[in-house]
Amino acid sequence: MAIPGAIIKYLSGIILILGMSLSCEAAVILLDPGHGGDDFGAKVELPATKDHPAGEIYEKDLTLQAALRIRDELKKHGQQVYLTRSLDRKLGLKERAELADKVQADIFISVHMNSYVHGRSRGLETYYLDNHQDGAVRKIEQAENAVDPREDVVVQKILLDLIIERTIDTSKRLGNLVHGSIIKELGLRYKIIDRGLRPGLFFVLALAKRPALLLEMGFMSNPKDLDMLLSEEFQARYAQAVAEGILQYLKVRKI
Ligand SMILES: [Zn+2]
Repeated sequence: MAIPGAIIKYLSGIILILGMSLSCEAAVILLDPGHGGDDFGAKVELPATKDHPAGEIYEKDLTLQAALRIRDELKKHGQQVYLTRSLDRKLGLKERAELADKVQADIFISVHMNSYVHGRSRGLETYYLDNHQDGAVRKIEQAENAVDPREDVVVQKILLDLIIERTIDTSKRLGNLVHGSIIKELGLRYKIIDRGLRPGLFFVLALAKRPALLLEMGFMSNPKDLDMLLSEEFQARYAQAVAEGILQYLKVRKI
């Protein structure tokens, strides 16, 4: 039976409206690729193999690649996405955070890779802002909080407490969804060591003053993690999982 064109038009209109109301609200997301310029972040020397020549790999390059992939995934879903840097350039923590105000970001996500003196540490973890006191957390904080000594980054205790109080619930909810999505999508496939969603005191998250996460995608200092971090397939799946977690958060944030 042929369905008249007018009915098809009417039905597709309803489907379009339904689709729009079911899809999540467009939000402004600021992605922050860690480090840049002469701040390399973590660094590893790769010996030559049959697949690649010897060379150095810098965290600042991998964080940019990851952020660009996450941006592309989010844009596919109609989100408005900005990057604190889209090139290899140095950017202070304060400058990164101020961009969050400039673009009126709803969410701030800083992307990093871990590194540790011995190569055994593995796994990925996600941080939300909290002034939790924990030895392991503080160690990583030092690496990601390292700033140019000339830079005036002063986060006063009272201001920090206020920011934490205002953002902790939403950051934690966002963190649960994003970290959960990463582990669900990648955990088994890559035999990921799940280091969990953790509280951490990061200047860049505090200065951003909004729901914010700091992603540690894996340990560049561990050969297995590094192989994974350099794999295009892992990078693509990781970006999809992060985007999926953010989209889930956006769907529930108004409820
Ligand atoms: Zn880093």
